[in-house]
Amino acid sequence: MLASGLITIMQNPPQNLHLFNNALSPVVRIPYPLFKQHNIRVWIKRDDLLHPIISGNKWRKLKYNLIHANHGGYQQVVSFGGSYSNHIHALAYAAQQAGLKSVGIIRGEAHHASNYTLGWARHWGMHLHFVNRQQYRLREDPQFLQELQQHYPGSYLIPEGGSNPLALPGMAEVIEQLASQLEFDTLLVPVGSGGTLAGLVAADKDQHQLQGIAVLKQQGYLADAVNQLLPKQAKAYRNWQVQENFHRGGYARFTPKDIRRMQVFIGETGIPLEPVYSGKMVLALLDMIAQGQFSAGQRIVLLHTGGLQGLGGMIERGQLNASEWHLPPEPPAR
Ligand SMILES: *Cc1c(COP(=O)(O)O)cnc(C)c1O
Repeated sequence: MLASGLITIMQNPPQNLHLFNNALSPVVRIPYPLFKQHNIRVWIKRDDLLHPIISGNKWRKLKYNLIHANHGGYQQVVSFGGSYSNHIHALAYAAQQAGLKSVGIIRGEAHHASNYTLGWARHWGMHLHFVNRQQYRLREDPQFLQELQQHYPGSYLIPEGGSNPLALPGMAEVIEQLASQLEFDTLLVPVGSGGTLAGLVAADKDQHQLQGIAVLKQQGYLADAVNQLLPKQAKAYRNWQVQENFHRGGYARFTPKDIRRMQVFIGETGIPLEPVYSGKMVLALLDMIAQGQFSAGQRIVLLHTGGLQGLGGMIERGQLNASEWHLPPEPPAR
């Protein structure tokens, strides 16, 4: 199988892929009054610490994609995202490290090129190709993809969010690492395009409960997206769910109260969060515990999927107050 061949290659990664050398992210216990009250133990796997620039699940999902692009002799990688996308930010850096050119097909207008996220992407050499909403909807259309291939010859196309079959072996390494780190009952993870949860489901082989927290409002869509990405033998697993009641109004939406609750958690635990993914996962956990969805004695692991660069854009747009959040570094190329 392709993926296992790539895994063998990774035992001796070439110089330009050292970025993806095996890194064990720590698992730390979170003491919190609510957890204690309900006799529930909670840990967090700090994938946000995997790398100072490419954090969390984007590191995991890009790993085997970039190894494949490198070994396949591609000239460049092309992918898709919004103008504040964690995936675009990560891909720009990873491609530069791997010695590949990169192109971002960006939903938005050209003036976004100097925003926080895209300022960094350009700094790492990504070429930005802006499209409007209608064009962006074609991002999985075979004819549009073929046109892109002609426009950017020798390119390896990665779908939005990096969620494709090669994202799965990278996510599987989370399950392998956890097996050596602790025993637990439930793993909680935010869900955006579904590749992260799909990779965890495929690798877990029905050992734990896997709870995905939908960060956007689209009934049933995310569970389908996860299912589509699952390899055949994994489609029978029933140990996972996508919780659809904790999106807080939709993608990147939140209330002042949500922000205050996240701030209390950050203040008490010292764990950095952002409000689009990790913050919503934490609020979902607090709500699910308060609703009695976890029985006493449960051992829960949160997967911190990173994405802290997103704070830069939210502060820039005035959605968040700079003084309350840990500021990511400024891009030099404004
Ligand atoms: C992209 C992203 C997710 C969602 O992952 P999917 O594989 O798209 O479901 C979760 N957390 C963070 C921080 C992300 O950047």
